[in-house]
Amino acid sequence: MLTDLLSPTSLSPARRRVAIGGVVFGGLAVPVIAGPCAVEPDYVQHALAMRAAGASVLRGSVFKPRTRPDSFQGLGESGLALLDTARSVTKTPVLVEPLSTEHLTGLIGRVDALMIGARSMQNTPLLRAAGRSGLPVVLKRGMAATYEEWLAAADYVLAEGNEHVILCERGIRTFETATRNTLDISAIPVLRERTALPVIVDPSHAAGRREWVPALALAAVAAGADGLLIEAHPVPEASWSDAAQAIAPHTLAAVVAAVGVLAPLLRATEGVADSAEQGRVVDALDLAVGALLESRAGAVESVRQANGRTGPGVRVHGLDGEVPVSSAVPAVGLA
Ligand code: PEP
Ligand code: MN
Repeated sequence: MLTDLLSPTSLSPARRRVAIGGVVFGGLAVPVIAGPCAVEPDYVQHALAMRAAGASVLRGSVFKPRTRPDSFQGLGESGLALLDTARSVTKTPVLVEPLSTEHLTGLIGRVDALMIGARSMQNTPLLRAAGRSGLPVVLKRGMAATYEEWLAAADYVLAEGNEHVILCERGIRTFETATRNTLDISAIPVLRERTALPVIVDPSHAAGRREWVPALALAAVAAGADGLLIEAHPVPEASWSDAAQAIAPHTLAAVVAAVGVLAPLLRATEGVADSAEQGRVVDALDLAVGALLESRAGAVESVRQANGRTGPGVRVHGLDGEVPVSSAVPAVGLA
């Protein structure tokens, strides 16, 4: 069983579940948080597109930490009304990044979760204030932070009595320059041993290029990630910030579908006592089986077509036909 490969570490210590709105991280499902890098004037349309593509939570940053002061800094307070509308129209929770304790005060009561960005991971007053807010906190790893430093930052939030912390690996700085950062997949199994907190992965800020985002996203889920945080935009190249790494809604939908197939195959279902959850496990497995059968039907069709073109090929055990040796069948299309 595939689940046996991950379960020894993923089951111990007991996993903590953290909910954003009603969306649970650290359970059996692997939710996807998605949206543009920054809230833009058309954000409500963007949010609807994210929802339609299968996002469970919306990214909704109105304050952006940018490297250069002359880059777009986010819509600021004026973007909050767009967030309110998007949240009520889509009935989807939103995740927003405060850069300071003043920002945080304006967000409480209007947002469903706080994101502490990589640059703020060691802003201890902000961590404490996020802890006191009682809101779920997605704590990104600093770009040069060790696991110990990252977990110590999480302790600032936990020390305020707020247990709703989700850790987010977003790539670290290495000598490699092809990618924006280097995604540290090892963080997932290692943190599984060191903490009960859910661990999610942001493949967008790791890759820096939209072409590479789906591969990193699926690698993260295969390694046991509890969720994904992805930058997506209806017209990716027109994004006001981080355009190169934004994926289109159809790619997001394909990633969400692929996660729906992959996750139930990898996540241990032992010890699921609750019958509603058992039902969801069976539904998820049905979805995975359905997707595999669809791939199989595609493979059989390719065999038929190949045999029609080239005459009898090589007999492959288990397929309803003959297949030329070179025939390759993708399991889930992400093109
Ligand atoms: C972001 O999510 O838009 C962001 C700025 O990410 P990070 O803090 O990981 O650089
Ligand atoms: Mn970004």
